[in-house]
Order: sequence, then C-alpha cells, then structure tokens
Amino acid sequence: MQQTVICPGSFDPITNGHLDIITRASKMFDKVIVAVVKNQDKHPSFTINERIALLQASTLNLPNVEIVGFDGMLAEYAKTVNAYAIVKGLRAVSDFEYEFQQALINRKLNPDLDTIFFTTSQEYMYLSSSIVKQVASLGGDISPFVPPQVCSDISKRLAPKS
Ligand code: ADP
Repeated sequence: MQQTVICPGSFDPITNGHLDIITRASKMFDKVIVAVVKNQDKHPSFTINERIALLQASTLNLPNVEIVGFDGMLAEYAKTVNAYAIVKGLRAVSDFEYEFQQALINRKLNPDLDTIFFTTSQEYMYLSSSIVKQVASLGGDISPFVPPQVCSDISKRLAPKS
C-alpha cells in the first residue's frame, strides 16, 4: 500500500527546520503532501502563492513531495487524499500541548487519522518563521536559517524599507 502523509503548516516563510522535517518524512513515506494553510487569522507576511512558490523551489530535489494550498478541515482533506498520517515537527515542550490537542481533535474527526511527531534536529530547535522574519526585517543575515535557493527572495521581501 502506498503511504501518503501530510505535513501541514503556515510556512510563512519556509525555514530549514521545516525543510528538515519534510526531507525526513520524504525518506520514510512514499509521498509527502505539504499542505500550506491559508490561515488568514494569523495575517501571514507572505501570500499563499508566495509561500507555495518558496516551498516548491526548496523541494525540487525531493520528487515525492507535493506542495498544495489548503483551506478547510485537515481531517476531511486527509480522507480525500487517503492519507496514512499527519507528520508534525516538535521543537520543545512548548509545542507539545498545542500539537497534542490538534492531534486528538483530528483523530476525533477522522478516527483513521494518526499524527506522527518528528523530533526537531538539534540545530533547528530555536528556529521559527517568526525569528526569520524578525532578523530579516532588521536587515540581518538569514542565510543560516532558510534554504539557499530562496534566501535572497525572502531577504528582499522582508528587508527594512529605506
Ligand atoms: P503553524 O502555522 O502550525 O505554527 P508552522 O508553519 O510554523 O506551522 O510549522 C509547520 C510545522 O513545522 C509544525 O509541525 C511545526 O511544529 C514544524 N516546525 C516548525 N519549525 C520547526 C523546527 N525548527 N524544527 C522542527 N519542526 C518545526
């Protein structure tokens, strides 16, 4: 049986921490769908199309990864693509409570849907999209934090206005 997993998130923008989880999932499962949540509530800095394009450019070397825009209920979407599980990254204990709640709700809505947690790689423990945005908006170097293919696009987009 082909095993498809979904990696959901805002990816506003993609970081090396996200890419690490996506890459590890792509080695373990047949297909990885990265579901980019439109998430208007969070007032994203990048549009849905920008976030998708940055993810696509960063995952060109991973042929079993597909990037999709997503708006709606993950539990329902998972049924439509016959997903085996949701894959999420855990950085610290602080991520756990929220992710645990999400996982239980998704399982309640779709009893066949499990959530698999990948422990962050140590070097990305501190890394988040918000930190990238903060550093870039102050004119700092974000190259250690984001994939090289998209670093200059992200920097230019977030650079302080002069
Ligand atoms: P959200 O909108 O749910 O906050 P994000 O776009 O920030 O989502 O992250 C998507 C997923 O990637 C989440 O599962 C999150 O835990 C995981 N993630 C984000 N940053 C890292 C990191 N540095 N290391 C491991 N996992 C991460």
